[in-house]
Amino acid sequence: MASAESDVTAHVQSMPTDGIRHNCGLAAFYFNEPAPLSYLIGPLQRLNHRGQEGVGVVGVRNDGTMVAHRSEGLVRDNINDIIRADTRVTIAIGHDRYSTSGGLKAWQPFGTKTDNIVTAHNGNLTNPLSLLHYIPPHKRKVLVSDTHTLHKALNTHPERNLEERLQTILPRAEGAFSLIVADRRKHALYLIRDPWGFRPLHYAALDNGNGYIAASETSAFHQFARDNNNIIEVMPGQCLRIDTSGVTEITINFPKVPIAQCIFELVYLGYPVSKIFEVPAAEFRRHCGASLAHIDIKKGFVPDLIVPIRDSGTQAAEGYAEAMISYLAEKGYSHVEIAKRIPREAVYRSNYNGRTFILPSARDSAVEQKFMVDPYVIDGKHIAVIDDSVVRGTTMKRLVKMLREGGAASVHVRSASPPIRHGCFYGVDFTGKNGELVAAEKNTREIANIIGTDSIRYLSLSRMVAIAQRLAPRKNSFCTACFSGKYPVKVDQKLMLNKVCL
Ligand code: SF4
Repeated sequence: MASAESDVTAHVQSMPTDGIRHNCGLAAFYFNEPAPLSYLIGPLQRLNHRGQEGVGVVGVRNDGTMVAHRSEGLVRDNINDIIRADTRVTIAIGHDRYSTSGGLKAWQPFGTKTDNIVTAHNGNLTNPLSLLHYIPPHKRKVLVSDTHTLHKALNTHPERNLEERLQTILPRAEGAFSLIVADRRKHALYLIRDPWGFRPLHYAALDNGNGYIAASETSAFHQFARDNNNIIEVMPGQCLRIDTSGVTEITINFPKVPIAQCIFELVYLGYPVSKIFEVPAAEFRRHCGASLAHIDIKKGFVPDLIVPIRDSGTQAAEGYAEAMISYLAEKGYSHVEIAKRIPREAVYRSNYNGRTFILPSARDSAVEQKFMVDPYVIDGKHIAVIDDSVVRGTTMKRLVKMLREGGAASVHVRSASPPIRHGCFYGVDFTGKNGELVAAEKNTREIANIIGTDSIRYLSLSRMVAIAQRLAPRKNSFCTACFSGKYPVKVDQKLMLNKVCL
């Protein structure tokens, strides 16, 4: 049986070559008694699907001194260096990075030996320029990203109380920011979520009683806080301080805005075993797949073969198949016919081609290198290919071609989310510029023609949102801007697209 670490590594290796990278995973510890900085390795590995360009760990010792390691690559590529830097700390903050702003060298967490604070961020600020006036002009030249700007603004006048700086500056920040900030002088850890709640953030008491763990996703808590019921979500607009007195809520007067949690976290970004915004991600994807199948059944389409695109389409394909199988059982189909609709591996992926997934220029050839189809399974079949979403369409187009060449009678693409027609400016790496999104300004017939499929069907936005709302125990609302074009935070798209914000 594969370990949790190897499951996540496989997920990272098998991310689609034209898929979406996130812009970061956060993990942190607050220890009552000093403990190894290297404890971050496990949580960061379980968040590596959120960012593969680089990893950073920063530890704060009891006396306030700091130790740091930041470098490119996956967590597993950095384990030896992290272990070499290992020391006993009372605060540890880690970061898996995929850059949407600032380029490769804007490694996080930010914080130098002369800074009073350490900052790690998941999301993207849409108005970093408006934070510049909190930073003295001579310090502005060195800024490398939106996070760096926020870090420098919070760290200016380090002799002042950090909580006052948080209360002054954060209500002026716009966009997506789940933040973990350490105050080295006061030895406190702050967990903050923007008032829209775009990106997830959670915390839990450590099972061994030695403090707290915080992380972007619940998948990261395994090993340190095993009971999922003890994991607590930092709510949109909430700021929590963790110190020797435990967890205390700090009031930040954020503007009153509608909650807009990123629904794409549920569709694709979150690890399947995670609960995101209180919704179990895998279960959400199964329901979306089942909903797609009900539409196909209504329209009279029953495929011979159901093929998941792993890993992102696995749960949607399971849900799709469950719904198809119940329908066929009701209609009196034989066990043999029903068994044929259990999702089958027909598209295999090689995990040994190196890290081609980070090379946008190599995407096309990388797809053909990375995938193989099984002609014995697909020969003469009418196939439903199920994925969680179709973003750029590059991978799907190649796969459809390979399935046809492998002998499929027809290929029908099913996306368990609506067409993505708009860019994301809140921390996911598609901007919609230069024809990047296959569905932008196109109807489904046109999209099917581009991809070369016999048909394409998407789940509707209203059905998808209804599923997410139904599965959460609390009232939930979502950002759907990449599907609907309705942006919850005003964005100067020209500014963001040209990356002239800094
Ligand atoms: Fe998420 Fe899409 Fe909104 Fe970006 S635009 S935050 S990907 S739902």
